[in-house]
Amino acid sequence: MVDVGECDEEDAAGWQRACELVAAARRITVLTGAGISTGAGIPDFRGPNGVWTRDPRAQRLSDIDSYLADPEVRRAAWRSRARHPAWEAEPGPAHRALTELANSGRLRALLTQNIDELHQRAGLDPELVLELHGSMFGTVCLECGETGTMRAALRRVAEGDPDPSCERCGGILKSATVSFGQALDPEVVRSGQRAAMDCELFLTAGTSLTVHPAAGFAELAVRAGADLIVCNAEPTPYDDQAAAVLRGNLDEVLPRLLSVPTVPNSSPLRTWGDPSTW
Ligand code: NAD
Repeated sequence: MVDVGECDEEDAAGWQRACELVAAARRITVLTGAGISTGAGIPDFRGPNGVWTRDPRAQRLSDIDSYLADPEVRRAAWRSRARHPAWEAEPGPAHRALTELANSGRLRALLTQNIDELHQRAGLDPELVLELHGSMFGTVCLECGETGTMRAALRRVAEGDPDPSCERCGGILKSATVSFGQALDPEVVRSGQRAAMDCELFLTAGTSLTVHPAAGFAELAVRAGADLIVCNAEPTPYDDQAAAVLRGNLDEVLPRLLSVPTVPNSSPLRTWGDPSTW
């Protein structure tokens, strides 16, 4: 038995199961979402204080068709990038707990929907991080694909160009993130699928699991035989597929869950492995 501390009976059963799974797992894939960074001061989209919960019109800034069609949407997007809380944010206890997990050698991969680079800033090996939706610290030209830094683009905004265009071809410039209506990088998706199928335990943290294809990795992992733990403040569509659901604040939940001592596990690894090696 693992000491799960003080909680009600249902919670205690979930914690007991989650701690047992973490203790025995030799290969863990994690999917994080905006909820892991709310403690660092970056609001999520759909939580009670989410950007879209407070102002549904803000969704237009993340929609590629509106971005392409409407210069005012682009100007608003640049203003919003300049004052984004990620510029000031520091990684918190939940980010650091995942870095510790990686240091223990059991993290197969960390798939993140976040664009804030807080996992890397918490010391996680960038090789283990798969940024499913890109990073807000880069820019890309939607015409010729030229890439650059957000700092350089925002300097041009500060100098009086409210909608800076590509300096190479004049095309529309955007943050190097995946907006709604844009496809994910197919190589990133394939790597995510491989990591989902190549783990004993798939853990989701701070994601509403409503954005696809990211959310689908949880289902893929379960179908490939992994146990699923969902850590999120609110219910998700995958809770009923989870071996355990933990509802608390991630800055408390993850340090507590991931510091459970490992137990020897001599059973054969039951993962489908990396399909590229089949
Ligand atoms: P989401 O807003 O849909 O869901 C976040 C979930 O986290 C909510 O269900 C909320 O209840 C939960 N949550 C919030 N704070 C929590 C906490 N402290 N402890 C436990 N749970 C907490 O976010 P999503 O599922 O990541 O998907 C939305 C999209 O938002 C992604 O594509 C992502 O690119 C983008 N996004 C990223 C950031 C970021 O980089 N930090 C911020 C906002 C949105």
